Amino acid sequence: MNENPSVGRVAVITGASSGIGAATARALAADGYQVALLARRLDRIEALAQELGNGSVAIQADVTDRDSLLAAASRVQDELGGAGVLVNNAGIMLLGPFSSEQHHDYRTMIEANLLGAITATEVFLDQLKNGGAGDLVNISSVAGRTARAGNGVYAATKWGMNGWSESLRQELLPGVRVTLIEPGVVDTELPQHITHEATRAQVQKGYDQATVKPEEVAEIIAFVLARPRHLAIHEVLLRPVDQLG
Ligand code: NDP
Repeated sequence: MNENPSVGRVAVITGASSGIGAATARALAADGYQVALLARRLDRIEALAQELGNGSVAIQADVTDRDSLLAAASRVQDELGGAGVLVNNAGIMLLGPFSSEQHHDYRTMIEANLLGAITATEVFLDQLKNGGAGDLVNISSVAGRTARAGNGVYAATKWGMNGWSESLRQELLPGVRVTLIEPGVVDTELPQHITHEATRAQVQKGYDQATVKPEEVAEIIAFVLARPRHLAIHEVLLRPVDQLG
């Protein structure tokens, strides 16, 4: 008898090429999942799939491109038999003062963080529902609960994700459990993509001191997923112990 219910389960992780996504892939693979790694940087996810083995696959996909997600879902169905878990992790944090100079950043964040997660979910939903024991994990943020000057549109994407997740939680129970993960500062490359230079330098300074590692967030995700089916953990808010807001 198979005593580990995660063995043979298939987990799709968006944004698996770095940070929290890559760490989650490692944690779930260690628990026996077959993982499908989605991201735009194919070289990185191919190297990770090779490292993980156990039938892991790397699939180049941009969450802002629905066709690439549809193609990814077909591959997951054909090659792995369908997804039991979807981790909506892909995201970008383009902080800076609210101004027209940043208008491209606003569209990029809404399309990747919010619409990207929504699109990946509608595309993979039939697979998650199939079998009546799916899991959807949405990576939100402390910024989905508290907004600050300079993070308005990023916060809007995460507040949006929180509202959408709660609606889905009610709509999809009990066949698909929905979990929202809301981390504070985690040591990843997230601030490196900020386009507003002064903001990037300032935020990077904070991230240079980051104490919470992506592996610690991944461990929480693996714990949530490993709960027996009668128990659902809907929300996890975590911060470095000295982070105020
Ligand atoms: P990283 O920058 O390391 O990872 C972001 C991932 O998202 C990358 O793998 C990137 O892959 C992927 N990505 C970005 N845009 C797209 C896109 N259009 N299509 C597909 N993939 C995309 O940062 P983190 O690991 O920190 O971020 C992961 C998530 O965690 C994000 O949603 C972020 O908002 C959230 N978060 C992070 C916190 C932190 O302090 N680090 C705190 C709270 C939440 P690629 O470029 O290869 O496509």
